Amino acid sequence: MNARSHGAPPSPEGDAFAPWRAVIESMLHAVWLVDAASLRVVAANHAAGTLMGVRAAELVGRGVLDLAATPEDLCFWDEVAGGLAESIESETFVCRLNGGTAPVTRRISRVDQVGGAAFYVVALHDRSEQFRAERALEASAADLRATLESTDDGILVTDLSGRIRNFNRRFAALWNIPDEMLMRREDDAVLEWMRRSVIEPGTYMRRLATIDDATMLQASDVLKLHSGTVLERVATPQCTSGRPIGRVFSFRDITEKLEARERIQVLSYTDALTGLPNRRLLADRVEVALAVAKRDSTPFALLFLNLDRFKHINETLGHTFGDRVLLEVAERIKCSIRQVDTVARLSGDEFVLLAHQADENGAEAAAWRVMEALKRPFNQGDLSFTVTASIGIAMQPNDGTSFDELMRRAESAMREVKHAGRAAFRFHRPRPAQADARSRSRMHLDHAMRQALAQGRFRLHYQPQVEIGSGKIVGTEALIRWRDPELGEISPGEFIPVAEETGFIVPIGEWVLRQAVKQAAAWQASGRPRAVSVNVSALQFQQPGFVDGVATVLREAGLAAEWLELELTESILLQDAQDAMLRLQALAQLGVKLAIDDFGTGYSSLAYLKRFPIGRLKIDRSFISGLPLDESDAGIVRAIISMGRALRLEIIAEGVETVAQRDFLQEAGCHLFQGFLFSPALDVMAFEAKFGAS
Ligand code: C2E
Ligand code: MG
Ligand code: MG
Repeated sequence: MNARSHGAPPSPEGDAFAPWRAVIESMLHAVWLVDAASLRVVAANHAAGTLMGVRAAELVGRGVLDLAATPEDLCFWDEVAGGLAESIESETFVCRLNGGTAPVTRRISRVDQVGGAAFYVVALHDRSEQFRAERALEASAADLRATLESTDDGILVTDLSGRIRNFNRRFAALWNIPDEMLMRREDDAVLEWMRRSVIEPGTYMRRLATIDDATMLQASDVLKLHSGTVLERVATPQCTSGRPIGRVFSFRDITEKLEARERIQVLSYTDALTGLPNRRLLADRVEVALAVAKRDSTPFALLFLNLDRFKHINETLGHTFGDRVLLEVAERIKCSIRQVDTVARLSGDEFVLLAHQADENGAEAAAWRVMEALKRPFNQGDLSFTVTASIGIAMQPNDGTSFDELMRRAESAMREVKHAGRAAFRFHRPRPAQADARSRSRMHLDHAMRQALAQGRFRLHYQPQVEIGSGKIVGTEALIRWRDPELGEISPGEFIPVAEETGFIVPIGEWVLRQAVKQAAAWQASGRPRAVSVNVSALQFQQPGFVDGVATVLREAGLAAEWLELELTESILLQDAQDAMLRLQALAQLGVKLAIDDFGTGYSSLAYLKRFPIGRLKIDRSFISGLPLDESDAGIVRAIISMGRALRLEIIAEGVETVAQRDFLQEAGCHLFQGFLFSPALDVMAFEAKFGAS
């Protein structure tokens, strides 16, 4: 393979280069020989062909200027041509004959042959690979930098001796490091800056020393800075070929996360309104108290406190007002207990007091103190009123040895206080065995009720309803009575709720309705007509044939509908307002009168009532009992009366026991009342004997 055989221009020297060809062919680098006079290639080795992208022979005869890629090259060969340069080593590019350029290191030396033509040996080292590697390295360095800068963590890379090798801007920002310090790469100053920024530099340095010593240690620490920032630092060893060469420290700002966690921690253990411990924290403290009690055999007490009629305050005066009252209650309870004791708010108006190392005397003293603290009148805005509480007490270990058990017992004691008339405290007392034997359990009551209805043991008593000014009887309320041969007299307050639960209230209610309507018809027949008011339970009211049933009962007794009034509870209106409306309209159409019983204890508002064909409101007796002195009761009663009157409703007060109560009601504009002041409910005979003439 020589120049001639490929039609390349013959070299002036002919075969003068033959020995050289053999020499350059054995070389690994690309080499070509250039005739010094013509500056044309006279010989090229295989590697030169590969470099230039052609067969080696095709290079022969080409002018070097054709193969030069840069202006410097052109100058160089010009100088060579002018005899100004003899040898050179440079980095340049050559033009590949199949397109593109290749980076090369080129060494050129001039050879002057004795008696022969001078030529240049041009040796070229292809740097394409190295070039590619460098580019790739640059690209990955750029990637690395972009990655470093795009993370939200501050990154600091050091070598094993702690010298800074790399960092990102976030690192500088988190540590608040001045720019110039980083720019000038004052490593010591940067490290000292970091040391001075942390709140506990001693611990910080000791920890750093540990990390330095253990090159393969992965460590995670929390650093608190004077600036208030809290950083999480993770130190990870950096290795190449499995050997550690330095460390990567990443810093994450966890200030907010930590604050949020602390907030959650506080929230999950305290009541949001009062800031008192909540049920969870109380449970924890009781667990601790139980452990101590077990070890030292010391008793402690749980006092379960429920505010009396707080719901009315909330309903009538609004939740904001209610919240303010709760806050003050919490404050007063807190001030009335010992520092070591805990008061927690469970929910709404329920508080629990944990009295440590307290026997019954201690628990009683605590209950008295709390009740005393609540006794002072509460003043909110223009209103002054009293708040009372019912407190149930359970003693550890007699009443229970677990949180749940003690709570249950204390709560049931509190409920007993409520039943007995509120505003007092009571210890949990196990039921006497005898009472259990009598077992007024639900099942037993239900069974006895069914028998009572079948055997005609229910009776009705009638309580007069009186015009407040004249004292004239305008109607009567039918109230059921039951004496069981075994259980004795059982009040409706006890068995009606059970009947409502079991559904037996429906047949009982039908019996009451029929009986009361019959009585009204009898009164009418005797020439002394009296209206009857009949209590109707929600379940009974919701029965599909209820309205028809009422019409039938009236027809069969021959009583005009206007002599019958049905006393409904607010819950009837709230359950299915649409359905309730249709029934109420049908009843009103019949001519039956409708009243809302126990008004004020439910959730309906007066404005809401306006939509229904209701004629009368009966103010619940729990509001009447505090009259006229309790300012909260007085305010509520006055509000109900004046708003009720504005809606053209007739207002009746129940449970009126004193003249003062009646006078207050009369002055406030109440139309009617019923209560022990005038008369309790009486059987028909007693009623006639007492009021026959009126
Ligand atoms: P209620 O309908 O609010 O009846 C008024 C209750 O207050 C009656 O209790 C009555 O005896 C009592 N009372 C009347 N005047 C006074 C007073 O001056 N002071 C006090 N402290 N109490 C007074 P009773 O008869 O024990 O009935 C309790 C509840 O049982 C009734 O409350 C009513 O909700 C229900 N109930 C009674 N009879 C029936 C009935 O036939 N059907 C239905 N569904 N429920 C009934
Ligand atoms: Mg009633
Ligand atoms: Mg009532």
